[in-house]
Amino acid sequence: MFHETRDAVIIDQDASVLEWEGVSLPQLRDRLKGRVITPADAGYDEARAVFYGGIDRRPLLIVRVADATDVSRVLSLARETGLELAVRSGGHSVAGHSVTDGGIVLDLSDMKGLHIDVDRRTAWAEAGLTAGEYTTAAGAHGLATGFGDTGSVGIGGITLGGGVGYLVRKHGLSIDDLLAADVVTADGQLLRVDAKRHPDLFWAIRGGGGNFGVATRFQYRLHELPTAVGGMLLLPATPDVIASFIAEAAAAPDELSTIANIMVAPPMPFMPAEYHGKMVMMAMLVYAGEVEAGERAVAPFRALASPLADMVRPMRYPEIYEPEDPSYHPVAAGRTLFMDALDRRVAETIVDHLQASSASMAVTQLRVLGGAMARVPAGATAFAHRGRRIMANVAALYERPEEAATHETWAGDLAATLAKGDSSVYVNFLGNEGEARVRDAYPGSTWDRLRAVKSRYDPTNLFRLNQNIPPASVEGPEQ
Ligand SMILES: Cc1cc2nc3c(=O)[nH]c(=O)nc-3n(C[C@H](O)[C@H](O)[C@H](O)COP(=O)(O)OP(=O)(O)OC[C@H]3O[C@@H](n4cnc5c(N)ncnc54)[C@H](O)[C@@H]3O)c2cc1C
Repeated sequence: MFHETRDAVIIDQDASVLEWEGVSLPQLRDRLKGRVITPADAGYDEARAVFYGGIDRRPLLIVRVADATDVSRVLSLARETGLELAVRSGGHSVAGHSVTDGGIVLDLSDMKGLHIDVDRRTAWAEAGLTAGEYTTAAGAHGLATGFGDTGSVGIGGITLGGGVGYLVRKHGLSIDDLLAADVVTADGQLLRVDAKRHPDLFWAIRGGGGNFGVATRFQYRLHELPTAVGGMLLLPATPDVIASFIAEAAAAPDELSTIANIMVAPPMPFMPAEYHGKMVMMAMLVYAGEVEAGERAVAPFRALASPLADMVRPMRYPEIYEPEDPSYHPVAAGRTLFMDALDRRVAETIVDHLQASSASMAVTQLRVLGGAMARVPAGATAFAHRGRRIMANVAALYERPEEAATHETWAGDLAATLAKGDSSVYVNFLGNEGEARVRDAYPGSTWDRLRAVKSRYDPTNLFRLNQNIPPASVEGPEQ
């Protein structure tokens, strides 16, 4: 028994696609080099799962594309059928944008080609690589490009939104090392995009997310990084320690980037038992440079309090990405914000809120910015929050869906208290907070510029399942 959803697609009662625009599923499989996965196929459930738990969407079709030609064909299917299109690289979208209910998932995760030019210190990397895969391969040559704090995040999503990680103060955002990209636009054309070719698009994809096309490959600058000093420093999180940590991180040399997670200590084996259940700061530190200078830069942090655990050590940079459990799919209520200062009083507020949370884990993450990231002019890329000093992420992890409202309220309250009326936001950590919030990711003239570029390259808003920037011709959110 068949039924039709739209003129162009015929699906059966199990929601399997049988025919598109007169093209049968076997014909479609023939036309694509990559893998087509439908609800009838083994591996469908695995293929539709994303990093975050609680997202249970059933696409009609998942296409694991093999190359830019496949991408172009999938885009034409999406155009012709009008079905919702999700674009996926590493599947870590905080807002769940990499999977659709009843639409098409264009999945780049099989595209993992990497060509490293050691002499020129550049790399062409296909968008299906994860940050960890790229970093390990580059690290084998003593080279690195900065991504985020988690190895399993895709280079596709993190790069297009900006990319804030362990090299942010030394080398800037991931986009600051982006030299070029291959992008398939909504009309199916493959464009080489760089400072000279399609400069408007090159500007827009450095922070504007997946709004402008499907990036199949990125060319990055690589930096020499034969040694680093890095790892986790676990400190008791009193308000004084938190405030002093932030002051030290801001005063540290650019080589040192930090990510401090403040939370109630879960029972972890490396932590003294008397600290389980107490407020701790789990800080990740990376000094991107020579070991001796790195040890000197880390010393003031070690002196803030008696560390509960100290795993900071000389390392090869890729070792900063710890092995991950692929079955970990947390459900979280999260908010992200920028701050310009954090004193003892603000630290106290954070501690109080964390203590009041009923979540199975509540955390406030603090990233001190500055350095190379801040030296790029705000108008040079679509990521324009260049002058912000601190990025804070607030999250409550929970298991029971009926508790969602409680944890959303908690996260919203703490974020509002810390943001003090400043709504600006980093797009890659933004959840589903409505259209107006996307505007907050793009301050000043950035928003209008992005909408103009969107009109040029995606006038019908084919790429709309994302933190959407509507084409200038379409009505956008109130300003
Ligand atoms: C555990 C975790 C840790 C994180 N840590 C950091 C961090 O340290 N620093 C940081 O900056 N961010 C961090 N992030 C946020 C992360 O950068 C974004 O979630 C990013 O979008 C994930 O990229 P992805 O390719 O894995 O995700 P996906 O879900 O595959 O993609 C997200 C969206 O990006 C777009 N997109 C992805 N690939 C392409 C492509 N090739 N072409 C066109 N559009 C594309 C699509 O709109 C897609 O919906 C983290 C997220 C998680 C879940």
